[in-house]
Amino acid sequence: MTEGHVHALGSMQRLDVPMRRYAENDAVDYVVIGVGAAGGVLVQRLSRAGFRVVGLEAGPFWDTERDWVSDEAGSHQLYWEDPRVTGGSDPLALGANNCGKGVGGGSVHWAAFTPRLHPSDFDVYTRDGVGVDWPISYDDIRPYYEQLELEMPVAGPAYYPWGHPHGYAYGPHPMGGVGNALIKGCTALGIPVSIGGPVAILSGSHGDRPHCIYRGFCIQGCKVGAKASTLITHVPDAVQNGAEIRDRSMASRIEIGKDRRASGVHYFDDDGKPHFQRAKAVIVSGYAIETPRLLLNSACPGFENGLANSSGTVGKYLMAQGGNVVLGRFEEPVRMYKAPPAHALTEEFYETDARNDFARGFAIQTVGPLPIAFAKQMIAAKKAWGWGLRREMMDYNHWAAFGLLTEILPWEENRVTLAAEERDRFGLPVANVSFNLHDNDKRLIKAAKEKTMDVMRAAGATEVVQEARYAHLVGGARMGKDPSTSVVDAFGRTHDIPNLLVCDGSVLPTQGSANPGLTIQALAARTADYLVSLGASISSDTRDMTPPPLRASLAPPATWRKGVPRLK
Ligand SMILES: Cc1cc2nc3c(=O)[nH]c(=O)nc-3n(C[C@H](O)[C@H](O)[C@H](O)COP(=O)(O)OP(=O)(O)OC[C@H]3O[C@@H](n4cnc5c(N)ncnc54)[C@H](O)[C@@H]3O)c2cc1C
Ligand code: SF4
Repeated sequence: MTEGHVHALGSMQRLDVPMRRYAENDAVDYVVIGVGAAGGVLVQRLSRAGFRVVGLEAGPFWDTERDWVSDEAGSHQLYWEDPRVTGGSDPLALGANNCGKGVGGGSVHWAAFTPRLHPSDFDVYTRDGVGVDWPISYDDIRPYYEQLELEMPVAGPAYYPWGHPHGYAYGPHPMGGVGNALIKGCTALGIPVSIGGPVAILSGSHGDRPHCIYRGFCIQGCKVGAKASTLITHVPDAVQNGAEIRDRSMASRIEIGKDRRASGVHYFDDDGKPHFQRAKAVIVSGYAIETPRLLLNSACPGFENGLANSSGTVGKYLMAQGGNVVLGRFEEPVRMYKAPPAHALTEEFYETDARNDFARGFAIQTVGPLPIAFAKQMIAAKKAWGWGLRREMMDYNHWAAFGLLTEILPWEENRVTLAAEERDRFGLPVANVSFNLHDNDKRLIKAAKEKTMDVMRAAGATEVVQEARYAHLVGGARMGKDPSTSVVDAFGRTHDIPNLLVCDGSVLPTQGSANPGLTIQALAARTADYLVSLGASISSDTRDMTPPPLRASLAPPATWRKGVPRLK
């Protein structure tokens, strides 16, 4: 964000207050590393509570009018495309397939599906004998789900039947062609389907944000400002409450003092110049890959294996979800670009079912690839090329796409380590990501793929193909009660260093088959409430694990109880 510049955040929202600047030798209360889905909520909550906060963000502070285009090919700067190494028996595609870079992080280019985890997700080991139990229950996070659903806000049906049944305060979206196909296919097979959400996209205008105009550019960054991202929902309030968002600032190492406490963060500015920001506490919110990388890159005397890694767990238990895309051709035009990709889904197969040969389950959702993504899918699914690919592209309007989301279990060897040789432009070792599917994961993906293809056929598709892929990386710094098997406690505080926290998707011990963004932001709001309760005692060795009171007063006023909610 440049000084004196009136910052555009969507077509109506403007940020015109000067941003506070802290001196580097001024020990601020919190440095938050990464202002993405979790980091955006944290900087907002902490600054609103009166803490002095600096958010260090590797990417730019987007001005949506200046920086974004409504063009699929012009949106690549939204993604984390810095070098990484990927491997294992089932390597993950990195880059555009997972995290964002810039204020808002992945919430800028997410599709904004916002289902909650189910109560069963929090005790999968006790219940199903797989994965691991969380140190918290559904009831611990439920008030934060409700809070964030109003803050973004989330549009959806008045009654949502799966997991813990609940309703959405803001009405659902009308259906696009892909949603209609999902409804038709599910209905023909007797599968319940949720219509018009849950999705964090405005179905009516709200505060200084307009409603969705259904042009389908959600995962290219919604220039309109109808889709929620922390860039437009939480960061403006943070700036107004005195937080400094220091963009184009790449954290390279967390400094540990003689007292074995975090004392600040080393970072590089965009010109490669090194800096050091002092802080009383540090929160790492860099995403499932960059968070473990930074903890490992911060190894120092006394913490030779990396910070918060006495358990050896940092980087381990990384998870993705099986995210195959199933494409079907219809005689009638579908025009899948004419709606948000995310607008209908079913979670009917989410839970473990004793009749299956696998534990846990999957969801089926609408996706609406734009032409470049569709071309890649046709190359992968049909090996289309040359004239054949051109013919498929001319047929784009007749295709619909469903995505499946399968739960992949946490496995120790799926992990982030530091690459032995490759370094980024700052000379920092890059992340090496190793990923392998196990039998349960493979059986689950196979079953989900077959069911989704059945639904597509039942919808009337005359040709059905699919592309194998993964979605949504989480894990790598998991939360748990036992310091010998986890990195952080139930509030995100590392077991080893009391004033060093992790708060982002990397703390998830398991992932269900729900998209993770809502859970990540709800956990961030819960961590913030806890930090407000702790006050100045953040560096104390004594850990009070009493759940904090829910503070609705910390929600951004621009979104809290505004608009026309149907409930509450
Ligand atoms: C195409 C696509 C569609 C998606 N759709 C959905 C969806 O519909 N629903 C859903 O729930 N989820 C969706 N997701 C996933 C969702 O975007 C992520 O799960 C979520 O954004 C992760 O939040 P986070 O806070 O862990 O990290 P992020 O939001 O990625 O934020 C991390 C931030 O930290 C910054 N950073 C990292 N390292 C450093 C460093 N060393 N120094 C400074 N800054 C750093 C990054 O630049 C980034 O801005 C989608 C993802 C993709 C790729
Ligand atoms: S379809 Fe997506 S990109 Fe377009 S206005 Fe709606 S939310 Fe924004």
